[in-house]
Amino acid sequence: MIEPSEALPGRNRPEFTIPTEHAVLGASLQPPFPDGFERAVFALGCFWGAERLFWELEGVHTTAVGYSGGFSPNPTYEEVCSGKTGHAEAVLVVFDPAKLSYADLLKVFFEAHDPTQGMRQGNDTGTQYRSALYPVDERQEQIVTATRDAYGAELKRAGRGEITTEIALAGPFYYAEEYHQQYLHKVPHGYCGLEGTGVSCPIRPVAATQSEESINMSTNGHHDDLPTVPATDAEWRDRLTPEQYKVLRKAGTEPPFSGEYVDTDENGLYRCAACGNPLFRSATKFHSGTGWPSFTDAVSPEAVELVRDRTFGMVRTEVRCARCESHLGHLFDDGPRDAGGKRFCMNSLSLDLDEVSDVVEATPASSKR
Ligand SMILES: [Zn+2]
Repeated sequence: MIEPSEALPGRNRPEFTIPTEHAVLGASLQPPFPDGFERAVFALGCFWGAERLFWELEGVHTTAVGYSGGFSPNPTYEEVCSGKTGHAEAVLVVFDPAKLSYADLLKVFFEAHDPTQGMRQGNDTGTQYRSALYPVDERQEQIVTATRDAYGAELKRAGRGEITTEIALAGPFYYAEEYHQQYLHKVPHGYCGLEGTGVSCPIRPVAATQSEESINMSTNGHHDDLPTVPATDAEWRDRLTPEQYKVLRKAGTEPPFSGEYVDTDENGLYRCAACGNPLFRSATKFHSGTGWPSFTDAVSPEAVELVRDRTFGMVRTEVRCARCESHLGHLFDDGPRDAGGKRFCMNSLSLDLDEVSDVVEATPASSKR
């Protein structure tokens, strides 16, 4: 990797015009992006094939190729290829978190290339082809770390080497020249050097709306003993009591101090009442005095989905089950400081305490900061 002091100076503005429209999806290539959509940045070797991988996913709004992770502002392709900018060839992905989670994208990322190759990818050699993840915020960073560790363990089991993927908070993303944007659409038989390890990443499936069958397949059977996720509203009404339905499927809130888990201290694992997904360990439960069961953290960042909620004239963070997307409660930042400051404010109706199983197979609980 080139030293910052030896990197090319770059320039204040791009040397070329960046196209406005995605050649395949028709969406805008540049911000502003629709409200509530999430950004993610991936580097996995040559960006031509890497970009196509993502624009083909359901729930992806737009993609673009560019340069990130290095030092030289507004570089050109030739400069990046010289290895003197420090940048990696990168893909910007803008997606709808209601249809696709960041963890889903990480699964695609890890399975599509070989993240153990250091400063190359296949025959493409040089720092610009390194594997890298540039999370855009701390939440993404936590998911990255958990996923990297989980996939690292799978690779080790398969006799593969250590993951060399660079992980750093996202810096600027410099768009590449028009010629490179959606390259494999413009040049359908163009070069694509992407090749995965064949080892599957033990995270949630690609599309949150996929059938239960594919959920079971892509999580290596971790969910084999869980009930299937209903596909229709009628099935949901069948499975849940009217009170549960109102909370879980209509984002309702049970009256305070009315739920069965407000004051419980039993050891165990709190699962999603709708689908059995492990959500919270009893060790993270605390008495908040609010009248709702409260937790300082979920069993893993992948267990729950956080969604901005603007109902009732407030901006709050809604917490949903990541497996079945049922409403669980809200996340506040007035939790115990020594435990991270978070308060997962849950409805008892959304939870099922499993007093036997307090061990979770999935990814480890997120690290406390
Ligand atoms: Zn669930």
